[in-house]
Amino acid sequence: MLETLAPQSPDALLALIKLHAADDRPDKIDLGVGVYRTDRGATPVFAAIKEAERQLVESQDSKSYLGPEGDMGFVNALMPYIFGEDATMGGRIAGMQTPGGTGAVRLALALAQQAGMTRLHMGTPSWPNHAQIIGDLGLDWNGFDHANSDGTANIDAVLSTIRGAGPGEGILLHGCCHNPTGIDYSDEEWAQIADALAESGTFPIIDTAYQGLGHGLEEDAAGLRAVLAKVPEAFIAYSCDKNFGLYRDRVGAFYIMAEGSDTLDTAFSNANALARAAWSMPPDHGAAAVRLVLRDSKLTQLWQDELDTMRERMRAVRTRLAEAGMTGSVDLAPLGRQNGLFSVLPVSSEQVQQMRKDHGIYMAGSGRINVAGLTMDNIDKFIAAIAEVTG
Ligand code: PMP
Repeated sequence: MLETLAPQSPDALLALIKLHAADDRPDKIDLGVGVYRTDRGATPVFAAIKEAERQLVESQDSKSYLGPEGDMGFVNALMPYIFGEDATMGGRIAGMQTPGGTGAVRLALALAQQAGMTRLHMGTPSWPNHAQIIGDLGLDWNGFDHANSDGTANIDAVLSTIRGAGPGEGILLHGCCHNPTGIDYSDEEWAQIADALAESGTFPIIDTAYQGLGHGLEEDAAGLRAVLAKVPEAFIAYSCDKNFGLYRDRVGAFYIMAEGSDTLDTAFSNANALARAAWSMPPDHGAAAVRLVLRDSKLTQLWQDELDTMRERMRAVRTRLAEAGMTGSVDLAPLGRQNGLFSVLPVSSEQVQQMRKDHGIYMAGSGRINVAGLTMDNIDKFIAAIAEVTG
């Protein structure tokens, strides 16, 4: 039976990690895999999480099953950060824990499919796993251009897509820090998107994987909140893996917003059943640590300070890149206006290979770079390499 299987191509970014590890040039630069790095190139455990983990070891007296919805203390503690002061919007929002943001995206799309969504719209490029999940579920989907060539969001494309869709069709939007482009909608553009969604009845599915890494926790939730204030129903997929540095612990949440409590309860019971069939229950440890951080004001402050440091470091790298302006054939100025870990450089795959071969600089074949791979020590080398390879 197994001989009928066709080989699948390995994950390109994971292959890049291996190539980078095998390179013995001391000044090599890894701009591939999407994790935050300090200016010393490390991806440390947050101090707030370390402390919460210590408390967890001391206080946890059982590892008995929790249920498909996971740690509801975690799910609820997160809600004010995502949804604001009226965290359930008058009882219209319910959530559950998922294995990472990936589990949340998977559950959102599977539940939309179960609810009869006939077509999903998504800006491209997007996080590659979006397309893989969509393909795995067998969803019909349509792509539109997320960005203009000058590094701004293509607002006309998203608005005409939403207006042309309507009830029964969905749109997948990135809440903030768009992966891979770093190009987010402005507040004015989110307001237009919210109006178009409300008028057309197109169903919003908002993927928020980087809250706090763009402009701040509140600022990065503004687009999502603008949409939720206008539409009757929506799904939100959330990841804590970047903003709490928990990557491998797989910490995420899925939220449903519905018009009334009966619909909300029924939708939630369907999400529960889908989760039960897919993974039964999410892993506990990371979510429990986040719950402890969010329930202790000192740890919450420590976490927010750590998040501020990360964001400010990435902003400083982006500012420095933007100052370089036109570099070879690449204009780095737009990177200063973009947000989060990623941006895409307009370079060919040959140029990406040349960056690797001649300069030991590792970036995805698409031209995506993780700006957190740059430091004030290696950024000049990077800018000089771009100038040489594309000049
Ligand atoms: N959505 C987007 C847009 C992402 O970039 C990522 C992480 N790369 C995820 C979801 C999933 O994150 P997690 O690691 O929590 O599964």
